[in-house]
Amino acid sequence: MNWIKKIKHLGQRIKRNFKKNFPTREEIENSKFISLNCCNSSPILKSEIKENLYVCPRCNFNLTINPKFRYDMIFGENNWTTIDPPLPPDNPINFSDSKPYAQRLREARKKSGQKCGVLSCVTKLNDIELVASCLSWDYMAGSIATQESENIIYSVQEAINRRSPYILFAVSGGMKMQEGILSLQQMERMTIAINELKKQKLPFIVVYCAPATAGGTTASITNLSDLCMAERGVTIAFSGKRVIASTVKEELEPDMQKSKWVLEKGFLDMEVERGEIKSKLYNILSIFTKTNIKTDSNSENQNLILEEKKAS
Ligand SMILES: [Zn+2]
Repeated sequence: MNWIKKIKHLGQRIKRNFKKNFPTREEIENSKFISLNCCNSSPILKSEIKENLYVCPRCNFNLTINPKFRYDMIFGENNWTTIDPPLPPDNPINFSDSKPYAQRLREARKKSGQKCGVLSCVTKLNDIELVASCLSWDYMAGSIATQESENIIYSVQEAINRRSPYILFAVSGGMKMQEGILSLQQMERMTIAINELKKQKLPFIVVYCAPATAGGTTASITNLSDLCMAERGVTIAFSGKRVIASTVKEELEPDMQKSKWVLEKGFLDMEVERGEIKSKLYNILSIFTKTNIKTDSNSENQNLILEEKKAS
């Protein structure tokens, strides 16, 4: 019977080690440390990453952040008011794939703490009032369907009512296929809303955020911006690289669809560090809204240039 005891002990030892090596979800959440996949380095203090605006201090990789943290970072804590429009009903075509869509929505709400994939707000960036919407990667990869689009359209209308600029922080996998043609219709509805904003001569700025924006989101609303900037290293695409490679049957550039590549191709206006977004956004908005532009010093500079030209 000794061999039975030996196997039993071996089994217990494996079980003990297995439990030891894989901490529970609660243990991971309560731990002060976190392991990052970006550079596979040793665990790092969560507080250190937060202080560094969720940019890896070792390899400078931009980690994904939620809309609330982004608003606090750019506009200041408690300096923004949520826009909470009435939303269309859940699950309009009663879709189910490997999991019922209703269950996916419940999980996404729990994970993100939001009613839908967009969080919109009215806020001030220094002295410029503006309306902003931010997609959440935690809510089904920031994909857009009827509820997200309704939130965006309502916020654009709010910007028109207030005569203020509209900023979209884009991070999205595209349109939600779980709502079929209704999702695709939202590309058109959002386009019409942005055109209304443009008719009122109000600025529309897009900030592409980590990790990616793709599919119907780039094919509709984000490419309509008056000016677009991206956090360093984000992916901006329509279809995935593998799909393109299998269609054109060519080897693609390794950095294709990354922000630097998109900037070189002329589809992006600037690539910025996460910590610079606030100041860059303010500079751009002050030009668009003619706020705080020092006209006196500008005219002085112009006079100097004119004098220099005359002297030469
Ligand atoms: Zn890293």
